[in-house]
Amino acid sequence: MSKLKKIAVLTSGGDAPGMNPCIRAVVRTAIYNNLEVVGIRQGYQGMIDNNMYDMNTRSVSNILNLGGTILKTARCLPFRTDEGMELAYKNIKAQGIDGIVVIGGDGTFTGALRFSKRFPDIAVMGVPGTIDNDLYGSTYTLGFDTATNTVIEAIDKIRDTADAHDRLFFIEVMGRDSGAIALRAGISCGAEAILLPERATAIDELIENLKAGQFNKKSSSIVIVAEGDKSGGVYDLAERVRGQIKFYDIKVTILGHLQRGGSPSAFDRILGSRLGFAAVNALIDGKSRMMVGLEANHIKLTDLEEALTQHTYKLEDDLMQMSEILSI
Ligand code: ATP
Repeated sequence: MSKLKKIAVLTSGGDAPGMNPCIRAVVRTAIYNNLEVVGIRQGYQGMIDNNMYDMNTRSVSNILNLGGTILKTARCLPFRTDEGMELAYKNIKAQGIDGIVVIGGDGTFTGALRFSKRFPDIAVMGVPGTIDNDLYGSTYTLGFDTATNTVIEAIDKIRDTADAHDRLFFIEVMGRDSGAIALRAGISCGAEAILLPERATAIDELIENLKAGQFNKKSSSIVIVAEGDKSGGVYDLAERVRGQIKFYDIKVTILGHLQRGGSPSAFDRILGSRLGFAAVNALIDGKSRMMVGLEANHIKLTDLEEALTQHTYKLEDDLMQMSEILSI
């Protein structure tokens, strides 16, 4: 058991629905265990700017249902520098903080790992919070379920109008490096094609498949394109297909930032609560430089260094194969 007295919590990188339930769990688990708890605003920027405040059980009342993050988040360049890290450390020490829960994605974990190697007297515990679902060590990350449901709701509506007008829609969804949202949303909405950063797109094949769909009397088609797909962007893609397909009116929709917002789903509220609870308990157990994740519905701790350097997240092969077969 550690001699932990005071911990801090921050959210960093892209915001994700479920961060608030996680903050709530961290604060209340800490207080239950007689720890003081500090909220750091705007991720690592708040460590550098000393933008922190004492939290109590009431600081996290009525936030389970809120999207975004009450602590705010930021992408903080100065934290990548030695000077920035030293300033952050000085502020953390001055506050008497001896453990930090960081909620974010792989960038956030990279920062936490570097900070902890440089200043090993501060324990760090990572919680996977990103809509991209692209972290090794957790089958699901916070926000992914809510974001996918938001995308599904939007695409269902687009399908209504696509069907009414015999249209082909190209819909861009978030995922610069990860096709996780695109793949699951595509399966859930019966998309005719799903374009992912993880695999090359054969445009000729896509066009042949769309033609086959029309031949099979499909009255509309949906092509989901993850942001990071390598075929040149959704508008360019639509233009190339327009030149070769005359039977559909072709439209483009970019779902954009609405995918990040909204009240967290039941799944993300429970995941956030579980991971926040587990993160504080791991710190109390004297653990550091780890990430708490969920694997096979059990909490699993993964070494941050190992997660970041030795493994990459992979989309499930069976889902990729199935999505093609089910969309004929
Ligand atoms: P998302 O997956 O939603 O983009 P993320 O945590 O990967 O989330 P990033 O913007 O990549 O988001 O990283 C968040 C923050 O972590 C950065 O703004 C920076 O402050 C810190 N960070 C990232 N990489 C490093 C690094 N190499 N050294 C120090 N800090 C870093």
